[in-house]
Amino acid sequence: MNVLVINAGSSSLKYQLLNTEAGQVYAKGNAERIGIDDSFIGHQEGDGEKEKLVVELPDHRTAIKHIFEILEKVDVPVDGIGHRVVQGGWYFPESAVVTDETLAEVREVAPLAPLHNYAEADVIEICRDLYPDLGNVIVPDTAFHYNMPEHAWRYALPRDVADGLHIRKYGAHGTSHRYIWKAASEFTNGACHKLVSCHLGSGASLCAIDGGKSMDTTMGLTPLDGLIMGTRTGTVDPATVFYLQRVGGYTVDEVDTMMNKQSGLLALSGVSSDSRDIEEAAEAGDKNCQMAMDMFCYRCAQLILEMAQSMEGWDTMAFSAGIGENSDVIRAGVCEKLAWMGVKIDPELNKVRSGDVRRISTPDSKIDVLVVPTNEELMIALDVEDLLGDK
Ligand code: ADP
Repeated sequence: MNVLVINAGSSSLKYQLLNTEAGQVYAKGNAERIGIDDSFIGHQEGDGEKEKLVVELPDHRTAIKHIFEILEKVDVPVDGIGHRVVQGGWYFPESAVVTDETLAEVREVAPLAPLHNYAEADVIEICRDLYPDLGNVIVPDTAFHYNMPEHAWRYALPRDVADGLHIRKYGAHGTSHRYIWKAASEFTNGACHKLVSCHLGSGASLCAIDGGKSMDTTMGLTPLDGLIMGTRTGTVDPATVFYLQRVGGYTVDEVDTMMNKQSGLLALSGVSSDSRDIEEAAEAGDKNCQMAMDMFCYRCAQLILEMAQSMEGWDTMAFSAGIGENSDVIRAGVCEKLAWMGVKIDPELNKVRSGDVRRISTPDSKIDVLVVPTNEELMIALDVEDLLGDK
């Protein structure tokens, strides 16, 4: 089946057209600066050159029409559309076919992720309207964590408040963690039972996966919780929020922006939110960058053990996403802190650069350590195939 995967943001729209059987990517790209000046579509066919197509994109509807026109030239029929939805809230334990009802649910839970869900719901509606013959599927990033045990998802807030406002740990990156489990299971021929999946990108989260089920994860009500990220704080004492307002004089929105966009590696390093820049500066002796990297690895190792505890054991860990797949320095930094637990990696294997799943631990390591390039798009496409049937 040929599936068009769409990942819509408020001013951007990423797409990928791929085949579920072969995993072959026919085309992919990103419509950027939608509703702003200087909009364009970056498009790539197969392994070809990236092209930049300058087009006016006043709204998402225009962007989608352009994308379908571009894809006509690829000459591969689209059999169905999969939509990444950031927040499935209290409605989606798994992916679901788009109907009036499920679309309304995506909008109903949007206050939990206002920057994403409204745009995603609008895009789903536009696709149904423009291409009524194509089925659409909602793939929420939270679905994988929906059935975590209650002791993992419940917060110790007054029950009536928490339940009334649907406050709980929803987590994120669920589609990626689910793919990482699948790839790790296949690579180890089923020898992986209790996996700590480490999705370390500009957004970063860990997931404890026992027999394919999410048992706990580090992101919470929103993606702000857990690990230190590119520009997000990760976990801080929640009272910091009141203190910043009462004593610092910041408004709620200013605190929101500070903690989501101006903190994390960016704030600690004073250089960049990108781990490549930080690694380079740290190597050149920048003390703040060295501290930023050390803190990133410290928190990561600490929370890996929290995930292991939630499964009462672990046999495998997998590094994934931009940092996890590419930075041997961060991988080594994290594993070094876990050496006392019997985690041992081979420095040469750790330095190998490859797009394949690979093992970097030594034969005598107590924990199997893997690098797994994630593929959320393929996971989404497989869900579309499951729900809409093979064509
Ligand atoms: P997201 O999808 O959340 O934007 P990615 O998974 O693409 O994030 O990861 C982006 C981050 O990965 C970048 O900010 C950068 O820090 C890191 N990264 C990407 N490539 C490399 C590399 N070769 N070495 C070190 N870090 C890298």
